[in-house]
Amino acid sequence: MDTIAAICTALSPSGIGIIRISGEDAITITDKIFKSPGNKKLSDAPTHTIHYGHIVDGDEIVDEVLVMLMRGPKSYTTEDVVEIDCHGGILVLKKVFNLVINNGARPSEPGEFTKRAFLNGRVDLTGAEAVMDLISSKSDLARKNSISVLNGVLYKKIKSIRDEILFSIAKIEAALDDPEHMSLDGYEEELASNIHKIQSDIDVLIKSYDNGKIIKEGINTAIVGKPNAGKSSILNMFLNEERAIVTEIAGTTRDTLEESVTIDGLTLNLIDTAGIRDSEDVVEKIGIERSSKAIEKADLILFVTDSSKDPDNEDDKIISMLENKKSICIMNKTDLPQEMTVQEIKSHFEGMENKPEFIRISALTGEGKYNLIAEIKKMFFNGEISFNDEVMVSNLRQKNELVKAKEALDKVLESIDNAMPEDFLSIDLMSAYASLGEIIGEEVSDDLVDKIFSEFCMGK
Ligand code: GDP
Repeated sequence: MDTIAAICTALSPSGIGIIRISGEDAITITDKIFKSPGNKKLSDAPTHTIHYGHIVDGDEIVDEVLVMLMRGPKSYTTEDVVEIDCHGGILVLKKVFNLVINNGARPSEPGEFTKRAFLNGRVDLTGAEAVMDLISSKSDLARKNSISVLNGVLYKKIKSIRDEILFSIAKIEAALDDPEHMSLDGYEEELASNIHKIQSDIDVLIKSYDNGKIIKEGINTAIVGKPNAGKSSILNMFLNEERAIVTEIAGTTRDTLEESVTIDGLTLNLIDTAGIRDSEDVVEKIGIERSSKAIEKADLILFVTDSSKDPDNEDDKIISMLENKKSICIMNKTDLPQEMTVQEIKSHFEGMENKPEFIRISALTGEGKYNLIAEIKKMFFNGEISFNDEVMVSNLRQKNELVKAKEALDKVLESIDNAMPEDFLSIDLMSAYASLGEIIGEEVSDDLVDKIFSEFCMGK
């Protein structure tokens, strides 16, 4: 394969910036532009060594660098890889990069280093995809999941399911080839029971997708309520949380502010309907409109009420929008004398099928905050966001293939029920086997590989 290069670190002034080169000419290209004090050539140096020197353009010194030499196959791509640690200035990096290109490397495409790692068999497709997930992890759990997928946990699981299917296919095919010596009498029953077991393993993975998605992307949470109930104060309470990691997300509409916070492993993408109180007359109209938009796109609604007052018909308007939504009714301002009882506010939800939980808090003092967080965890993760060594599928492509595999296995069960000839069984078993193969990249088309890696960032 030809030799590729990229600036792998962000293009902004920083301590160091790294240029990575991979391919059969990586070392000779670097030798042309790198001068060590003793004039030693990298081509003569042992693998996995670091070299101090300068990048030069003819007689001119461009930068003072450290060069890392990693000969294949023990490298990220399994090819010869050189990494040049430059000073992190934009101009410096661009200049060194241009020298590398002018001396024979080609600028890499996004994700091309990882694509090579995959094509050269160093990682399977789940591992390759986990690299990108790891880079974009927003919470510690997402990071843990990505690193364990990168280390092959999902690959091993899929592979073991595939092996079981392959065993059944082999058994059927062998008996069809040699009916005199091998009989399938009574095998259908055993096969059906194996398939049920395999399907339940696949089900666990499919279900983990929902958890995985929430862990990876966070829970879209709308904070709604009438003006002055304390929505902004609650938002701030979350954002000021010491352990919260706050990241700004560009709001999808100009009306709402979105921010992402991670508390105790729980990532909330908070959609605030702030500004509702701005002007008295337009309040109602705009407020309701914004709330309903926010509610529509949210996975979770935090409906804020002011428990120092009685609930009123403004609360009712918002309550009417909560049907069929996961919501928590927050009774805010517990530090003030209380007017509203749980009974009372509950009665406003009468006739609603899925009633919310009621949590008392004070956004001002922070009282009840952890009850609220615990309640959200209960709603989305049965209380525990735990991560042991269970695998979490966090990628729609993988989930779709799991669903396809399960459907193909349904067909096998159907054929068994209808006493169809054995070759029917093996066709659908093969199709389940192939779908699972797509997940780990063993039966995957070039187009799909190109598509997957094109979504990677540059230099990875
Ligand atoms: P929003 O209009 O729903 O966003 O409400 P704000 O968060 O702006 O709060 C309205 C007013 O209520 C402000 O003066 C807050 O300081 C006050 N407030 C909010 N939460 C609490 C609380 O828990 N206790 C008390 N005493 N005041 C609160």
